[in-house]
This record gives sequence, structure tokens and C-alpha cells, in this order.
Amino acid sequence: MTNLEAFKEACEVIAGGVNSPVRAFASVQSNPPFIAKGKGAFITDIENKTYIDYVQSWGPLLFGHCDKDIQRACKEALKNGSSFGAPTLLETKLAKLVLENFPHLDKIRFVSSGTEATMSAIRLARAFTKKDKILKFEGCYHGHSDSLLVSAGSGAATFNTPSSLGVLNDFAKHTLVATYNDIESVKALFEQHKDIACVIIEPIAGNMGLVPAKQEFLEELAKLCKENETLLIFDEVMSGFRASFLGSFEINKIKADIVTFGKVIGGGLPAAAFAARAEIMDLLSPLGGVYQAGTLSGNPLAMAAGIASLTKAKNDKELFKRLEKLAKKLSKGMKKLAKEKGIALKTCYVGSMFGYFFTDKKVENYQDALKSDLKLFAKFHAKMLENGIYLAPSQFETSFICAKMDEKIIASTLEAVYKSFKNL
Ligand SMILES: *Cc1c(COP(=O)(O)O)cnc(C)c1O
Repeated sequence: MTNLEAFKEACEVIAGGVNSPVRAFASVQSNPPFIAKGKGAFITDIENKTYIDYVQSWGPLLFGHCDKDIQRACKEALKNGSSFGAPTLLETKLAKLVLENFPHLDKIRFVSSGTEATMSAIRLARAFTKKDKILKFEGCYHGHSDSLLVSAGSGAATFNTPSSLGVLNDFAKHTLVATYNDIESVKALFEQHKDIACVIIEPIAGNMGLVPAKQEFLEELAKLCKENETLLIFDEVMSGFRASFLGSFEINKIKADIVTFGKVIGGGLPAAAFAARAEIMDLLSPLGGVYQAGTLSGNPLAMAAGIASLTKAKNDKELFKRLEKLAKKLSKGMKKLAKEKGIALKTCYVGSMFGYFFTDKKVENYQDALKSDLKLFAKFHAKMLENGIYLAPSQFETSFICAKMDEKIIASTLEAVYKSFKNL
């Protein structure tokens, strides 16, 4: 069966042929390869074509596909049963493994997706502050819950209106939208609105392409939140255990009131979490009045994969240094090749996260990102795929280096970039 046949068959029974929209390759006007298997840095599609994989399941696979330790941990857990809906020791173990690193986070709760983590964090913030509004940034994506699907990156580029049909304007009006890296835009909203429960931000934005927040901006943001008795939520679903071991906390050293995790925390299985100090977390049911629950929350297989993944990351002190070196090599190499060809390209990396925009302007927020040449991106993406490199099929996504990559893989990638640029 070819990829195209598989996609057509899927489209008959699955809406759009996919279970998450970006997988459909619509923004590069193409059709997706169907993946048969992965190994380390590589994936192989059902046509038996192998690619170097820079998507890595959109972030979770810090150690690449089929990591032996993570596989072993899952197999061991599976022997004892796949789900109980009752507490297990694995949950406490992963909780400790996360919390021991963050002096400002006392307690955690596990959920199955980043969407649930941010949705719950917001409910908690509203309950804690007894305020209604939330403030987010244009281009930041925090999952697909109603309140957060407003000016969300990766999705439709509408302004101050829901990013999706079916989200009530009545709901969206409680979500204020500011400009990333622009503290004045935040101040203006704080002056206008006295009832802001929380500010939610990706401190290292990865859903409008890779756009890290400036240190000074984050510091002023934290200060504004404090002055206004507004909770600061750092959404580290992507950047946590990815940008560095401790994500933005290790890099920016800012103690947010609530932190959300996902992706790497589940090691490739469905797990995410939100954590905060005890006085906030103790508002959750059964201790407090904020309801939040999940049949598969803290699932033993997901906990086992998360424990294996974080333990490996914690024990390898050189890991993120090594991954960032590879990201830097790729970034520098791409820039050099683009310059030789007269192609406008901006690149960026933080730890194992890597991004690039087809533009000659600085990219510090979503409007900057939108100035990228999307037609050129689509062409580049198609050429790279032909040359055996699997990149995210959208300009507004981040690429991921995994621990199974090495200098040789980066060199092959740059060779593919060279060939692709030549034929643009
Ligand atoms: C991926 C992501 C989410 C949503 O997580 P899901 O598991 O896809 O629901 C939320 N926030 C950020 C920053 C993300 O990158």
C-alpha cells in the first residue's frame, strides 16, 4: 500500500484522515507519509522509505524511537496490568522525580495531555484568585480547551477572536491577548482590567516556530503578576525537560506560580502534569472545591515511561550540552547555506529545540513569524522530505534533536539542506 492509498483510506473513516490536524500536511499542500516504525533518530514509512526524524512525536521522544530503557520500563509495568484507576507507587515516584528539582513547586497532579494540564491550571488560578479573566500571548498554544483557543499559534491566524468555530465569543471575551516579548502590551491590559486571574505563557515559545522570551520581559512579567495579585503560569509542556533538563526554570530562573508539563514527562506515552505550591494545589478536589479528574490520569505505563525518560535525562549531565551543540551545528550550517544561495533565513535553538523562519527580519513575536515566506517553506519541506529528512509540516512548529542523533546525522541533514536549497 502506498502512503497516498493509506491516506485516502484513512480519510474515509477518520475526519481529515488524522487524529491531530497538523499531521495532515495541509499547510504544505501535501499528503503525509504513514509511519510503519521508528528506531532512534529514524522513522520508516509504509513505502519502506526511511527519514531522519526532527519531529520526534512533536517533542516527547528526547531519547528517540524505541529507546531500550523506556521500552523495558513499559514492558515491566505492563506485566502487572495496564490501568487500575487506583493509586500506584509509580505516580509518587514520578512526582518526586519532578518536584525535587523545583523549590517553588510542592505538589503535582498528573493528567493525560497538555491540554488537560493547562485547562486545569487555569481553573485552579481562577479559583485561587477569585478573578475571571486570563491573559495569554498571541501565537502561544496551550492546547485546545475553549478558554485557550484564542489567538493560538499553529492554528488559524485570527486576532482576539476564537481560533476555532464552536468556541463561544462569550467565552473568548474572558481571554485577553497580549504581544509576546512586549511588556507594554501586558501593562496596557493590566491597566484596563482589574480581574485578571492568571497570565499563561510559553516561556520558550515553540508553537509559532521557536521564539524564546527575553529574560527581561519574563522578569517584568513576573513582577507585574505579583503587583496585581495575578498568578503566573509557565506552560512548559514543550520546553520542560527539552530546552534544558529543567526547561525555562533552569535558563530563566523565574519561579512561576503554576507550571505545566507534558511531552517529555511521559516519555512517548500519554502523560502531562501541573504543579504549584501547596496552598494552590490543595484547592483541588478532594481537599478543595476545584474539580479535576481523569480515568487514565497517572496511568502506570505512562508513569513508567516518564520515570525512565527523566531518570536517563537526569543522570546524563552532558546530555543537553551535547544536544545543544548539535542544534547549533545545524542552525549555523543552515544559515551558511542559505546565505550562499541568497535565501532569507533566520534560525534559533535552545537546548534540543531548533527553529527556522524564511525571513530576513528578526522574529520576536507571532506577527514577526507571520512575515515568513510560507510558499518557500512548503517547497523546502517537500524537497527535504524527498531527501530523507522528516521536518514538521508547518513553518510555525519547532524541530527536535534527540539523544540518538550525532554529528554524522547533522552532516547528512545539512547535505539534504544543500540539495534542497539548490532546487528551490
Ligand atoms: C503540545 C502543547 C500543549 C498541548 O499538549 P497536548 O498533549 O497536545 O494536549 C500545550 N502547551 C504547549 C506549550 C504545547 O507545546
